[in-house]
Amino acid sequence: ADPNPNPTVVLHACLGVGHLIPMVELAKLFLGRGVPVVIAVPTPPASTADFFSSTASAVAGLEAANPSIAFRHLPPPDYPDPDPHPFLQMLDLLRLTVPSLLAFLRSLPSVAALVLDLFCIDSLDAAAQAGVPAYIYYTSSAGDLAAFLHLPHHFATTEGNFKDMGKAPLRFPGVPPIPASDMPHTVMDRADPICTIRVGHYGRILEARGVLVNTYEWIEARAVRALREGVCVPGRPTPPVYCIGLLIVEGEAAAQGERHACLSWLDAQPERSVVFLCFGSMGAVSAAELKEIAHGLDNSGHRFLWVVRTPPVDPAKFFLPRPEPDLDALLPDGFMERTRDRGMVLKMWAPQVEVLRHAATGAFVTHCGWNSVLEAASAGVPMLCWPQYAEQRLNKVFVVDEMKFGVVMEGYDEELVKAEEVEKKVRLVMESEEGDKLRERLTLAKEKAAEALAHSGPSRMAFAEFLKDSKLST
Ligand code: UDP
Repeated sequence: ADPNPNPTVVLHACLGVGHLIPMVELAKLFLGRGVPVVIAVPTPPASTADFFSSTASAVAGLEAANPSIAFRHLPPPDYPDPDPHPFLQMLDLLRLTVPSLLAFLRSLPSVAALVLDLFCIDSLDAAAQAGVPAYIYYTSSAGDLAAFLHLPHHFATTEGNFKDMGKAPLRFPGVPPIPASDMPHTVMDRADPICTIRVGHYGRILEARGVLVNTYEWIEARAVRALREGVCVPGRPTPPVYCIGLLIVEGEAAAQGERHACLSWLDAQPERSVVFLCFGSMGAVSAAELKEIAHGLDNSGHRFLWVVRTPPVDPAKFFLPRPEPDLDALLPDGFMERTRDRGMVLKMWAPQVEVLRHAATGAFVTHCGWNSVLEAASAGVPMLCWPQYAEQRLNKVFVVDEMKFGVVMEGYDEELVKAEEVEKKVRLVMESEEGDKLRERLTLAKEKAAEALAHSGPSRMAFAEFLKDSKLST
């Protein structure tokens, strides 16, 4: 008899809430198909414990909320002298974790596949050494993936830096023209060591057996076609791409505890009347912009539900947990009293998926983190795009120019988004014909998301195809 009838799939996660949440959802997908999985998470060494404390607590929360999923905390690497740059510190941690991942893979009786987050790309080495087929799980858009796959070729065949090109359009296969200034900060300057590291990462995607993408084909048809046709990397074959999304948390917050007070508040508001503002797990606007938002909302006259975070003070402390915001100090005098009947301000966190799905929610001011975009699309809510970091500016381009799901908050790339702009765009989405058109598109996006996830829908079929290609099913 086969001593290992059920080889395990190891999912290798990075430390970032927006990456961990879809990884947990992927684990559920495997379990639902009877494939045993374990999520291997890096453990920050003591020298970086402060820095990673908020993501470490997110891991603990996800673990507690998902008792049926096995988590494996890989031993912390030796890292006595952490890089002061937050992003490099994270990448160092992931790279230094490769040996512990290899030891873990070797300790298991049988591993069917390693599925790794793109940030953990160095773990391809562990997979190769352990003789395990490796796949990438890409937790952002297919459009980002298409652009990033193309970057090594772009850098090899051109000169100059995005940072010097202003808004000049970049023409990459599969995506609309991207203003150079909307590329991620990490690749703005080829002399920057981070740029070399990231472009190296993108080049390594080609080594994977396949790429699972948390998207559904309908919203990114052009990018997905380019990825399938292999035109993103001239002259080199690209691995097969499986659009298995959207993988988002299904109303778990509600199932786990008491219903959040903001949902009861939404119950009392008219249909599609509330503007929801939330900037992901780490995003926050400056103190000056908080005041601009408040004035803009005030002047728009619309209802709102607003998640306020303490503004970041020091970019080096970007990932560090921030104290709760002092609303009296941060918001304009009298704002809370004036808007008491039509607004609710939450400190730090909202049950976003439930809020977006609530009938009272009519628009979403978002930083364009990919999970947020998927959650809004599948809930049928138009977006007001205010990108902040990572690949959010790219997602903004796709949301506005390709998907036609939203509008831009002008000033996102300048010193300030002004109150007049907030008011103007809120009114546009909530009151104008253009807003009606966006809602029509989003109604379709919502239907297509439901179709993608239906029993034999495209995303479920893509996952089945992946299982078959990777010999996890027949
Ligand atoms: N999120 C939430 N409440 C908040 C902020 C974020 O539930 O107040 C969730 C959100 O629903 C999404 C994730 O955290 O699933 C954030 O992921 P995204 O990709 O949008 O942004 P990131 O945090 O990675 O920048």
